[in-house]
Amino acid sequence: MPGGRAQVYYKKDHKFDAGPTVITAPFLFDELFTMFGKKREDYVEFLKVEPWYRFEFTDGQKLDYGEGIEKTIEEIERISSGEGQGYRRLIKFSERIFNVGFDKLADQPFNKFLTMLRQIPALLSLRSYLSVYNFVGSYLKHNHLRRAFSIHPLLVGGNPLKTTSIYCLIHYLERKWGIWFPKGGTGALVQSLAKLAVEVGVKFELQKQVKEVIVQDGRAAGICLSNGDKSYCDLLAFDADPPKVYSKLIEEKYRSKWTDTRLNKLSYSMGLFVWYFGTNKKYPNVKHHTIIMGDTFKELLAEIYDKKVISDDLSLYLHRPAATDPEMSPSKGDSFYVLAPVPNKKASIDWKLAGERVRIQIQKQLEKSILPGLGDCLEVSFFVTPDDFEDRFNTLWGSGFSIAPILTQSAWFRFHNKSEELEDLYFCGAGTHPGAGLPGVVSSAKVVEKLVPPSRDTEKIRFQELFRTKSRTFALASLVLPKERAEAIFRLYYVCRTLDDWADEGHLEKLKNAMECWENHQPHEILDHYRFLQARWGLHSEPLTKLINTMLREQDGVAITDMDELLDYCHGVAGTVGLMTCPIFGVTNEKAIKHANDLGIAMQLTNICRDVHEDAENGRVYLPAEFFKCKPHPSHFLTQESDDFLDEVASVKIRVLAEADKRYKSGEKGISYLPWRVRIVVRWAGRMYSEIGKVIRSNPSAYHSKRAVVPNWNKLLALIPSACRSFLK
Ligand SMILES: Cc1cc2nc3c(=O)[nH]c(=O)nc-3n(C[C@H](O)[C@H](O)[C@H](O)COP(=O)(O)OP(=O)(O)OC[C@H]3O[C@@H](n4cnc5c(N)ncnc54)[C@H](O)[C@@H]3O)c2cc1C
Repeated sequence: MPGGRAQVYYKKDHKFDAGPTVITAPFLFDELFTMFGKKREDYVEFLKVEPWYRFEFTDGQKLDYGEGIEKTIEEIERISSGEGQGYRRLIKFSERIFNVGFDKLADQPFNKFLTMLRQIPALLSLRSYLSVYNFVGSYLKHNHLRRAFSIHPLLVGGNPLKTTSIYCLIHYLERKWGIWFPKGGTGALVQSLAKLAVEVGVKFELQKQVKEVIVQDGRAAGICLSNGDKSYCDLLAFDADPPKVYSKLIEEKYRSKWTDTRLNKLSYSMGLFVWYFGTNKKYPNVKHHTIIMGDTFKELLAEIYDKKVISDDLSLYLHRPAATDPEMSPSKGDSFYVLAPVPNKKASIDWKLAGERVRIQIQKQLEKSILPGLGDCLEVSFFVTPDDFEDRFNTLWGSGFSIAPILTQSAWFRFHNKSEELEDLYFCGAGTHPGAGLPGVVSSAKVVEKLVPPSRDTEKIRFQELFRTKSRTFALASLVLPKERAEAIFRLYYVCRTLDDWADEGHLEKLKNAMECWENHQPHEILDHYRFLQARWGLHSEPLTKLINTMLREQDGVAITDMDELLDYCHGVAGTVGLMTCPIFGVTNEKAIKHANDLGIAMQLTNICRDVHEDAENGRVYLPAEFFKCKPHPSHFLTQESDDFLDEVASVKIRVLAEADKRYKSGEKGISYLPWRVRIVVRWAGRMYSEIGKVIRSNPSAYHSKRAVVPNWNKLLALIPSACRSFLK
């Protein structure tokens, strides 16, 4: 079934979510549905969980941790008077970590070392060199509190004594969005995603095992299944555990970085022992998520990670979903799972022998603490061990969460989302950046989307050439742009230019089809490039919708009546392009966006004045009829019957160019919001364009049927003032 570690087990009347139960950052799921024009709420409901966790200590003390910071502080004060302020400061600093670690880095590709280098000052100032345990200890002193607020790395497979304090961002993540549970269990969330996937054209092939990656010419060319079937592909994206994929599915001769020796040396997350059990009685006082702390903490972690033995003093996580969603258990019973972190399979533990022993040890611990009489009311019971994680979930060493989230295995040091070994091979999931846990795994998919171009890289050259040959003005300006942004602009140009060509050549059907695919979120040869830019740079959908709509309207013939209509048209076909470029140039300020729209409009007005004759040949009149004595017809511009008419056209062009000048001025104001290199580009392009207006103005009638052009030397001259000014502002 779909779901991997989040699948569902059914036994008698009981239903058990196999793995994830704590849903944080629910917006990531909302976003996924929104991308396809759907609402998550129509597929699955998220229920609030309260408290988020209950901690139980061996001395009988309890700590409820949940929504409402004051309530949590009261609980903290009850355990250790005076420590509430420390918690407040902890949350404050976690917010700083969150702002960098989650907001800026979680869904960003880390396949370049430079990206990593750039983050180092921020990571140092966030004290990432501290372990979570030491970091928390600098705010909370009481042993219970220090342990309770250090457990977060365990949720993603890390040892709190060794995991970088960057993972303390989870504290703020929980505070910001709360903790949720899908109605019907995590399985209902999996089902909702599977339903969405099928609706948008994804095909699932279950019950099949990939045995080998087919490598051809240094690229991942396909897969071979265990039954011998082969499938070839343009591109392969794996959600499976990367160390397992590299070591078992790709021959070592194709691997220069991830050799078997290196894979062996990595630090793997702990193993998990999970006991699923159903009772024929209810335990209404047990909260949804209970952490039952053992007597020891550091010793337990040393036993799991270093000594690699099963401890006599386990700490447990107990899941009782019916506390939030009563339908998660049979009417007269209760369904639970209890999880104990244990050593992974690098330890020499024979789980076939040890499994039942550990289960009994856990049952006794629960009977003594919060589930008295458990042995007498057990109805269903089964467990999974690291053996199952290795065999069924296909993780190397049976680890619960792939490689451990230590600093030297995070971000650039983690398995890259774009394979370092083979072309056309991508990875998402727990073993890749940013890491394990549902928010991490969904974010890793976002990273892959940013890295996977909708076409082969060879197309990049085509885009660049198209840009250079068709838009010489902008091509000159693009030379100053950083490479990645320039490539994004070439791709955007390709999208807009293709649509524009269809509009000019009257390909109504192609435009209609594009609109249909766009609105219905269906694949489309050209618009997929825009979708790629959306994923990589955050472009909005509205400008493209407006652009295509304006082009569709244009197909009914163009006879602009007044200036307002002309401005709306220019916004539709060019202001929108200005808006599209903003995210690529890194502009987010709302004021700047208005100026970008104006600059696009100014350029389009200039184009219109330059191309009056050419447009008339295509049966289009963009100059507003309100400025003419009689409504002009395209034929009037072509026959040039009288000098009077030419004079009239000239004066209309001057009026339109005056409007363009106003917009250039506004565009100029927006330039100060841009990064300096981009400032030069945009200012230079604006100046070169407004030069066209000057050439027309110098002799409007002469440039009626002849295209006004700015000489190249003049264009280059415009660079000097543009650059000088751009250094200042
Ligand atoms: C017990 C438990 C509790 C957890 N609790 C939480 C929690 O409360 N909150 C939270 O956010 N996270 C939690 N996690 C972590 C979270 O579940 C995982 O990080 C996440 O589900 C991993 O997703 P994934 O897509 O990377 O891997 P998986 O879910 O393992 O998906 C990988 C898929 O690839 C398939 N596959 C692998 N190899 C092959 C092959 N060769 N051929 C074909 N198919 C293959 C597997 O069968 C599987 O379906 C928990 C994990 C566990 C185990």
